[in-house]
Amino acid sequence: MSKSKGKVVSVNESLVGVETTDGAVINGEVAMIMIADGKRLKSEVIDVKEGGVVYLQVFEDTGWMKVGDEVMFTGLPLAVKLGPGILGSVTDGLQNPLYELAEKEWFLERGIEVSPLDTTTKWHFTPIVKKGDTLTGGIALGHVPEKLFQHHIFVPFSIKGDHTITHIVPEGDYTIAQTIAIIKDELGNMHELQMAFDWPVKKAMPFNERSVPESPMPTGIRIIDALFPIAFGGTACNPGPFGAGKTVLQHSLARHSQADIVIIAACGERAGEAVEVFKDFPELIDPRTGKSLMDRTFIVGNTSSMPVAAREASVYMATTVGEYYRKQGLNVLILADSTSRWAQALRETSGRKEEIPGPEAFPMYISTLISAFYDRAGVEILSDGNIGSLSIIGTVSPAGGNFDEPVTQATLLSTGAFWGLSRALSDARKYPAIDRIDSTSKYPPILKKEEAAYLLELLRDGKSIASNMLLMGEKGITDESYIRYQKAELLDAVFLQQNSFDKVDGVTGPERLRLMFTLVKEIIDAPVSIQGKEAIRSHFNFLRQAFLDWNYMALDDEKFEKQKSKLTTLVKQMGYVAENI
Ligand code: ADP
Ligand code: MG
Repeated sequence: MSKSKGKVVSVNESLVGVETTDGAVINGEVAMIMIADGKRLKSEVIDVKEGGVVYLQVFEDTGWMKVGDEVMFTGLPLAVKLGPGILGSVTDGLQNPLYELAEKEWFLERGIEVSPLDTTTKWHFTPIVKKGDTLTGGIALGHVPEKLFQHHIFVPFSIKGDHTITHIVPEGDYTIAQTIAIIKDELGNMHELQMAFDWPVKKAMPFNERSVPESPMPTGIRIIDALFPIAFGGTACNPGPFGAGKTVLQHSLARHSQADIVIIAACGERAGEAVEVFKDFPELIDPRTGKSLMDRTFIVGNTSSMPVAAREASVYMATTVGEYYRKQGLNVLILADSTSRWAQALRETSGRKEEIPGPEAFPMYISTLISAFYDRAGVEILSDGNIGSLSIIGTVSPAGGNFDEPVTQATLLSTGAFWGLSRALSDARKYPAIDRIDSTSKYPPILKKEEAAYLLELLRDGKSIASNMLLMGEKGITDESYIRYQKAELLDAVFLQQNSFDKVDGVTGPERLRLMFTLVKEIIDAPVSIQGKEAIRSHFNFLRQAFLDWNYMALDDEKFEKQKSKLTTLVKQMGYVAENI
């Protein structure tokens, strides 16, 4: 690609018109706008018009830019640097490390350029290939330890065709800037390889071999694992009105899901929300290792001072890093909160470009972009036979909690699980406020399918009895219906509701989930001979409290078994009463 030049002719917030003075420009390439003080603003070509005018979206604050500023086109698409050192880092959508900048000040100064990955850290590299070996892009040259994992050092994925190794360094400590291997292509050209390489963020990394996501990923959240599960490599849409618990749910998923690596794409809804993520996460302890959760986390986010285009970039950056760690044979989970912010960025840009708008002024192609994003999730069988997966869970924050809007609908069509947060449930403080009736999942549950169906049937019955009671009053329904209603309420209170902030109740592993289900099922199946609404209600209140107390006891707590027997006795008593009468 030739490198072109141009001059700024118009500035409309982050959309900048440029007249090219020489060379051809293509969509998607990165351009640098030269502003005062020799600083450069990074931007991306998003529209090439006839007659040499192109439009750039600028990733940084355009405040100091002016008509006439010079523009240098790089000929290269927006890319992410992939290599050891990503885990534990916090960056913006352009891979500028936010911590390093933050140490100086809590925002990114305009035009500052920092190396995306640290070039001074030495990594202990162990080669697994030797001089004379033949290989191609995507084959591992060796590995380095990175935090908890063995990080494979690959021949860059962009390299095609057979290459011969003419030089490989011995085992030792190297930085990502040092050459560790030299390979020769079929034409005899030499290529020097380092431990990190670039990949264009908007281009999905090709799967070696794609497989269906069918192994459930335990999340520790009972309502999800039992009723609306997600699989390794699966996708979920989590829409909900403001304050319904999307962010709390995402944090819970980050800590307790059985993924190896968690990537947070934080596009905060409130000003400062993303900054909270940057500050809070490093303090979280990984329940699995007892060390910092950051050891297996990468955070990419936008502070409120960053322009809209950076939000778009951060979603793609997160996905590309996710695909890279999937190639490492790991299970990766991307949590994108909130994708509505991303969609709004697209809407703003589209509006400035004066494109024909679709529903609610979102661009017509919004659903294509959303589905392409979720399509990058999946299970991959790697060339060495190992398996990696990338799961994506995206929150959507539709205005007024109206799920009929375009972003929720497009996300719903592109994802395998739907966890709709309900305002009624969150107002009643029934957390997680995932709708019990309208949520869905196509993935296999951790419990058996028929067991999940059994619980859902009770929930539906409970809901219809509740609405009858609303019409006819408690007196208007039979004791039998009232008992069924109480059982549904109990199932909700002790099994579906979960206190995210409690160490024990906040996470339920598959073993405990099974134990709890068995007991819940005993309750549902138990004959109840108590008569009279008052007596029924009071017994269920008693049972519920005993169950809740049990939920707060750890599996290895000495009181755990005792409480369980107490519960079993209470369940049996429901049937005895009538015999005594
Ligand atoms: P959203 O991101 O949808 O706007 P948040 O996740 O910030 O909403 O949740 C708002 C508040 O609701 C939280 O500050 C917390 O008090 C409460 N909350 C949400 N989920 C839970 C939960 N699982 N357990 C206890 N409290 C919760
Ligand atoms: Mg939130």
